[in-house]
Amino acid sequence: MKAELAQLIALQHTDTNIRRLEAELNAIPQRRAEIEKEFEQRAFEFRAIENRRDGARQERTRLETEIAETRTKAQHAERALMSSTNEKEYAAAIREADAARKHISELETKVLEQMEAFEGADKEIAEHESQITQLRAELEAKLKAFEEQTRTQADQLNALRAERERLATELPKPLAAMYNRISTRIRGGVAVAEARNSSCSACFMSLRPHVMSQVRLGEEIITCDNCNRILYYVPAEHPKQSSAQTAN
Ligand SMILES: [Zn+2]
Repeated sequence: MKAELAQLIALQHTDTNIRRLEAELNAIPQRRAEIEKEFEQRAFEFRAIENRRDGARQERTRLETEIAETRTKAQHAERALMSSTNEKEYAAAIREADAARKHISELETKVLEQMEAFEGADKEIAEHESQITQLRAELEAKLKAFEEQTRTQADQLNALRAERERLATELPKPLAAMYNRISTRIRGGVAVAEARNSSCSACFMSLRPHVMSQVRLGEEIITCDNCNRILYYVPAEHPKQSSAQTAN
């Protein structure tokens, strides 16, 4: 039984690592978003200037469209002026043509303002260019490292899953079934717990001296009366073997 307990502990250790890696791999979109968010925060100032430049360009396009429309209106007014047959029509056409010309002049001033704003922002962008290039390079390096780490973790996960299969098939069937039953039912999936200081290290329930001595002997499978985990004992000189045990 001692060898089988050791296999159970190894299985538990493998399962714990599988779960940890699965959790890390599941969090990939979130971790990637955090890297990108950090970049966005640092690039914020630069982004604001870019927005200013793009805004000026858009506004200029809009103003130029409005100028073209107003020119058409002015032409209409001028034609109306030529074909006017009475004083009233004439006066109205004059007013309309004047208003259109005045409006065009105002719009042209605004176009100049937007051109200046565009050029100013463009100049600032050029000044920040090396900084932002460096930031982008940093972002790319971080994302690349992250992808490499992710690949390594995926490989580790595959290796652990194969290892898990091997360990599970080596165990006697009833024992493997028992382990699976406990681990699926229990929170955190930890089916094996160290008995330490006369208590179960997973649920902290005290173990009766008789139970504790059975666990110590390791000749049969003993489970915790409280949490149903399979108990094992690590002799004091090898406390590090308890790594299969994690908090529940
Ligand atoms: Zn327990």
